[in-house]
Amino acid sequence: MQRYDNFINGQWVAGAQYTRNINPSDLSDCLGEYAQAEPAQVAEAIAAARAAFPAWSVSGIQARSDALDKVGNEILARRQELGRLLAREEGKVLPEAIGEVTRAGNIFKFFAGECLRLAGEVLPSVRPGISVEVTREPLGVIGLITPWNFPIAIPAWKIAPALAYGNCVVFKPADLVPGSAWALAEIISRAGFPPGVFNLVMGSGSVVGAAMVRHEQVDGISFTGSVGVGRRIAADCIARGAKVQLEMGGKNPQVILDDADLRVAVELAAQSAFFSTGQRCTASSRLIVTDGIHDRFVTALAERMKSLKVGPALGEGVDIGPVVSQAQLEQDLRYIEIGRNEGAQLVTGGDVVKGDTEGYFLAPALFAESTPDMRINREEIFGPVASIIRVPNYEAALAVANDTDFGLSAGIATTSLKYANHFKRHAQAGMVMVNLPTAGVDYHVPFGGRKGSSYGPREQGRYAQEFYTTVKTAYIG
Ligand code: NAD
Repeated sequence: MQRYDNFINGQWVAGAQYTRNINPSDLSDCLGEYAQAEPAQVAEAIAAARAAFPAWSVSGIQARSDALDKVGNEILARRQELGRLLAREEGKVLPEAIGEVTRAGNIFKFFAGECLRLAGEVLPSVRPGISVEVTREPLGVIGLITPWNFPIAIPAWKIAPALAYGNCVVFKPADLVPGSAWALAEIISRAGFPPGVFNLVMGSGSVVGAAMVRHEQVDGISFTGSVGVGRRIAADCIARGAKVQLEMGGKNPQVILDDADLRVAVELAAQSAFFSTGQRCTASSRLIVTDGIHDRFVTALAERMKSLKVGPALGEGVDIGPVVSQAQLEQDLRYIEIGRNEGAQLVTGGDVVKGDTEGYFLAPALFAESTPDMRINREEIFGPVASIIRVPNYEAALAVANDTDFGLSAGIATTSLKYANHFKRHAQAGMVMVNLPTAGVDYHVPFGGRKGSSYGPREQGRYAQEFYTTVKTAYIG
């Protein structure tokens, strides 16, 4: 079995232990054994990043841009192969996996350009004869902690801006998906970054992640994952004065109004609730439907769901791959049971599906006649499970959409400009979609949410500089 090591100070370093990376579509398929860093190795990676920072932080932007562009080009050139790896370890179907890899490549190329465009400001002082410069400088050593559901795109959207703006990085991927992270690290290792600028430490959150979060030499933590873990990380960071950025869960509403185009509404709901096995922070899990279209919508969506093929991520014509793990499958099934017990009506799906291989296959589940107070409408399930909430009109739909602890993405299906514009302004979410799925975003514009979904500056696009740089105001007399 091939072993994959950590990358520290420009060297591949063996782990104290290794874990097996298992394919959720076929539990007999192991992708390899991946190193688990010990706290001492995490400290070595942080020390290497610290040592590399003074030179890297003032390095030429052409060299930075070239290295990032090289990473992006290689990812794009290898998108089929990296897509297969991603599909095999995480379980999203091959076209989605290739799409995610493509996105990662584009992100590196975007930030290859962005590091040439880090502008400042020059202002007159209120004191005559003095000028004021406002510039941005790199933050320092940054710890990056990522979840399993986007094994290459989320690492890319943190690593690329961190390096572009002159920071040094210690990256810890999710324990379930070290394969894509390792492949990305291997590409970065050959792109021309000096030793110590980029480090990979694989392993569990409680050991490797916690060691990064608490280390006083780490200037900032960018985290994507669950609310509970994120809030604990924020508390630890704030306690020692480190900068922190959190992207967390969602319970995203998709409003469907009477005047919606039924075909469009059904397709976007099916896409955003169930594709990627519902394992997207931007997935629509609450479908809020007005009376006049309700029955037609439920029937048509249930029909569409029956046409979705559930199976292995690399299987021909498969729409929905497996759930990522046994623990996640159990969580999904538990919530389906909770929904039933709460009195919601299971319209279709929710059963474990047997395949040719042993994997975590689950038929997408749709509940109807659910109410906003039910747990299935309040807590993030993070699987292919959605529920319909019937409402009398737009005003009620908006109120239900906003009645949540989360605020990542919110969608509306309508042909009314009036309601589309009103929703765009009044949905309490970081991202609003009109006649589009709540999931599926561009790579060059800000990404993030409000309320329990996010904390700190936005990620991606030009807005990424807010977290990865610190502002300096200089007075020149
Ligand atoms: P998770 O919170 O369990 O883990 C996320 C990362 O944190 C992993 O790398 C994990 O090892 C690490 N971690 C766990 N405990 C830690 C600790 N004590 N200290 C430091 N690090 C620790 O989340 P997950 O199950 O990997 O991912 C699913 C969650 O991610 C969902 O809630 C989903 O909504 C969220 N998510 C959010 C976004 C977004 O941008 N808003 C995107 C994707 C996923």
